[in-house]
Amino acid sequence: MRENRLQPNLDPHSLARELSNRLLIDGTLRPALSGRRFAVVNPATGAAIADAAEGAAADVALAVDAATRAQKLWAKTAARERGKLVAECGRLLNEHSEELGRLIALETGKALRTESRIEASVVADIFTYYGGLGSELKGETVPFRPDMLTLTIREPIGVVGAIIPWNVPVMLMALKIAPALVAGNAVIVKTAEEAPLAALRACQIMNQLLPPGVFNLLTGDGPGCGAPLVAHKGVGKVTFTGSVETGKIVYHAAADKLIPVTLELGGKSPMIVMGDADIDKAVAGAVAGMRFTRQGQSCTAASRIFVHESVHDSFVDKLKGKVDAMTMGDPLDEATDIGAIISKPQFEKVKSYIRIGEETPGMRAWRCSAMPKDPRLMDGLFVQPVIFTGATNDSRVAREEIFGPVTCIIKFRDYEEAIAAANDSEYGLAATIWTRDLKTALDATHRLEAGFVQVNQNLVVQANLSYGGVKNSGLGKEASLEAMLEHFTHKKTIIMNMA
Ligand code: ADP
Repeated sequence: MRENRLQPNLDPHSLARELSNRLLIDGTLRPALSGRRFAVVNPATGAAIADAAEGAAADVALAVDAATRAQKLWAKTAARERGKLVAECGRLLNEHSEELGRLIALETGKALRTESRIEASVVADIFTYYGGLGSELKGETVPFRPDMLTLTIREPIGVVGAIIPWNVPVMLMALKIAPALVAGNAVIVKTAEEAPLAALRACQIMNQLLPPGVFNLLTGDGPGCGAPLVAHKGVGKVTFTGSVETGKIVYHAAADKLIPVTLELGGKSPMIVMGDADIDKAVAGAVAGMRFTRQGQSCTAASRIFVHESVHDSFVDKLKGKVDAMTMGDPLDEATDIGAIISKPQFEKVKSYIRIGEETPGMRAWRCSAMPKDPRLMDGLFVQPVIFTGATNDSRVAREEIFGPVTCIIKFRDYEEAIAAANDSEYGLAATIWTRDLKTALDATHRLEAGFVQVNQNLVVQANLSYGGVKNSGLGKEASLEAMLEHFTHKKTIIMNMA
């Protein structure tokens, strides 16, 4: 331990101020070299809660230097020892779970009870999971020639750049840094402009245990801080979660250096409800899958719900009833189910899609859940969840990722028609089918074009289950042992001539 043990601070406002104007480089919290900063805003009120340091190319260079030095020693630490330290980070993060949940709620606008507290607990679980996998960094012996011992070993890549978004900032950071560290890499995280604080706090907590420079955290904007990180010659791998457009920019930049990239991008995930489905379960699955409690700000949001005509009306009624009963309000209030949209641009984008849907012939918007009445929230970025009925798969709201609390119900008659429409999308992240018929369920799991397919449930990311998309939803997997092996190591072949 290098500093006095941090104590959890359950007042997220004071914690946000404490974390102001800090990058974490080489184990030290410090402002950006330029001294520049930008405001972090509480989306539920519009009030500034902190200033974040505006990291830029010079800070990237410092972080890469520190990471390069630290990685050499870290890679020499026994894999199980690295794992033990990462698991210990999990234990410490768990002690700070409530604090992290409150800070996530404050900066992202996600409700504490339904979202932010859960995210914080999953973070600790991810570290604990990967912490146990140090000894799984195994190679193989290969039958080649009897007088030659031929084997493969797994080596770390070196310095990893991890670029994260704002919707589940600490969990998505954990999915990148825990496996990268256990595999023997050093990491430089670049947080999203909108939500840098809880990720920084998590790193400050881990900094009590891990060697300086093994992981570093930069706050700053995409072009000014993310782009130089990807472009830096000392960064040997980039793992990115965010939009398709930015993912493509990152992929191009990485191609210039010929380095490997993992991309977790957008989605327009279909949910197919067959006529024989348990409708109550399917409705609950739609509420969970659409992430209404996260204001729909999820790349796996079940934003295209195909419902068989025989159960369409009852499904829609029940879904409206459930979403209507949800409480929108202050994210830190335990009574709140649904919080605020992350930022003004995102808020405007969601509202423009709602207008587009309302103007689409044949479609009808059902606005659910009451707007908050609390006068302190009057400037907050709240949007009533919208369920569109009468949608077709070729409407814009069914094709484009909205990243807001907006879903479309598309009525179908025939299973083949539903499968074809579900696959008629540029995305392929997640999909679900709801049916009591095993044959249909199995058939759909094979035919749905997605990286993550579930039957009669709609769970979120789970440690130990590979997660990642096909088509425009991305490249590569996260959350599993394979993710660590495939994305954070390279395989070296060794031949020893014994003759
Ligand atoms: P969103 O539109 O939802 O903010 P982005 O994909 O733009 O999603 O952002 C995801 C992450 O990518 C953020 O951390 C952002 O700062 C970063 N980013 C944005 N532009 C670039 C870029 N040109 N190079 C590297 N990172 C970037």
